[in-house]
Amino acid sequence: MNDLEKIVYEHGLLNAKKHKGKANPGAVVGSIMSTHSELRSKAKEIGQIANSIVKNINEINIENQEIEIANLGIKTTEKKKKTEKGLPDLKNVDGMVVMRFAPNPSGPLHIGHARAVVPNSEYVKKYNGKLMLRIEDTDPKRIYEPAYKMIEEDIKWLTIEIDDTVVYQSDRFPIYYEYAEKLIKLSKAYVCTCTKDKFKRLKDESKPCPCRNLSVEENMELWNEFPEMGVGQAVLRVKTDLSHKNPAIRDWVAMRIVDEKHPRLGDKYRVYPMMNFSVAIDDHLMEITHVLRGKDHLANSEKQKYLYEHLNWKVPEFIHYGRLKMEDMALSTSKAFEGIEDGTYTGWDDPRLGTLRAMGRRGIQAKTIIDLMLEIGVKMSDSSISWKKIYGLNRKILEKFTNRYFFVSNPVKIQIKSNKKFSQNNSLKIKRPLHPDFLERGDRELSFNGEVYIPMEDLKDGLLRLMDTINITIFNGQATFHSSSFEQAREEKAKIIQWVPVNENINAEIVMSDNSIIKGLCEVAVRDLNVGDIVQFERFGFARLDKKEKDKLIFYFAHK
Ligand code: GLU
Repeated sequence: MNDLEKIVYEHGLLNAKKHKGKANPGAVVGSIMSTHSELRSKAKEIGQIANSIVKNINEINIENQEIEIANLGIKTTEKKKKTEKGLPDLKNVDGMVVMRFAPNPSGPLHIGHARAVVPNSEYVKKYNGKLMLRIEDTDPKRIYEPAYKMIEEDIKWLTIEIDDTVVYQSDRFPIYYEYAEKLIKLSKAYVCTCTKDKFKRLKDESKPCPCRNLSVEENMELWNEFPEMGVGQAVLRVKTDLSHKNPAIRDWVAMRIVDEKHPRLGDKYRVYPMMNFSVAIDDHLMEITHVLRGKDHLANSEKQKYLYEHLNWKVPEFIHYGRLKMEDMALSTSKAFEGIEDGTYTGWDDPRLGTLRAMGRRGIQAKTIIDLMLEIGVKMSDSSISWKKIYGLNRKILEKFTNRYFFVSNPVKIQIKSNKKFSQNNSLKIKRPLHPDFLERGDRELSFNGEVYIPMEDLKDGLLRLMDTINITIFNGQATFHSSSFEQAREEKAKIIQWVPVNENINAEIVMSDNSIIKGLCEVAVRDLNVGDIVQFERFGFARLDKKEKDKLIFYFAHK
């Protein structure tokens, strides 16, 4: 066996162990892809190897498979365990797994969308399948034109790979019409001209409305007149079960008249599909095998099943996940939109919003969002998340790769009285590592000449240590040299604070999570940073450089 075959064999055995001795080649490839990212480019080759090796493994009985696992000393890796913890295996995998993310273009993506797209993406990786993006733009009232572009940008930011072909439902009206006609001809759909109230009254009593019994010919006539009808004058209904225990499912609306202008279609069409109609038709035609959606869509899945039945189509596997409750997070797209319009928010990336772009601007990492969503998984029970949780995950990532600097908020100048001579020409060069755990990154250098800025809030009577420099006593706003050693500062429990030289510093503003601004001064080493870089301001917190102005740097605060 060559190296690749060996890897396939080991993953195959583990997969067999999980599934009563029968491994699945797709799952084996997926498992390899998720633990050996370096092999992703060889997915195809691995797929071929997996087909033959899995066949051999499945012929070994379970007991001998166990012995092989023990003999070879195969262990599941951390990463694999984690994936399994969050995401259960997909049911009924038979051939290529095709999934989709189907947002409405009503705004950029927020963390609630991540709830849908992340597990979708993780599953297609696991099964070496395909993830499609379908833009559900069949309700002009819920379209925000810039969102078309924003959604793709956000998906990219999240590092999620989607199939190259983006499907726009607005391109597919002729297809929806074709199936509407087909259903009418099959007597599975009818044009209903009853008033809403009348239909509801009858439906609630499980009675058919008069339109339900019209002939196919009469229906086709109405269907042809449909585009000329007024808003609300008629709808196309899909026949279901009039005694279904949920009245909402009884003969649901598939098409209606819409008079608003569509940003991509203008007024080309008046007959518009309802969500359930276009979704089910597209899921089938796009060969979606597994539909992952929130449990608020349970009744919709139920509605859609009737359509699959009428058209004799195979129902995809529906997976419903629980609600995501977000404490202290402004989330609703419509509220965000209103706030942006009336100037409450600065834009879609206002730090108070739960959009992915707002989070990214603050230095929240895509990986944080992905890890969080995988931890929550796709269970039916509701989950809650909070900023605190997000910050905790993000801190773990940032702590390692960000460098440390001094930022002094609300700076006050102090001149340290001392019989030692500190002066411009006789300044101390203070070196402090960019990161104490990664000394190879080098040092920053600050010059100390006895005159420094410290944060206003630290100017209190008592002993202070200026980091890596000297210890000073503050009394009545006056600073006096006390001692030099760190040990002494520690013994006397001095507060250890950051500082910046008075003659060498840079203006900085930090936009906080409530959009308030903290002004201050940074040490000069931040001059080398690029927009987008994230730093850790000592004693202050993590922040992302958002903008470099001529005499000022603007950061967005991430978290402590
Ligand atoms: N566009 C729908 C939504 O975002 C899709 C629902 C579905 O997953 O079928 O709610």
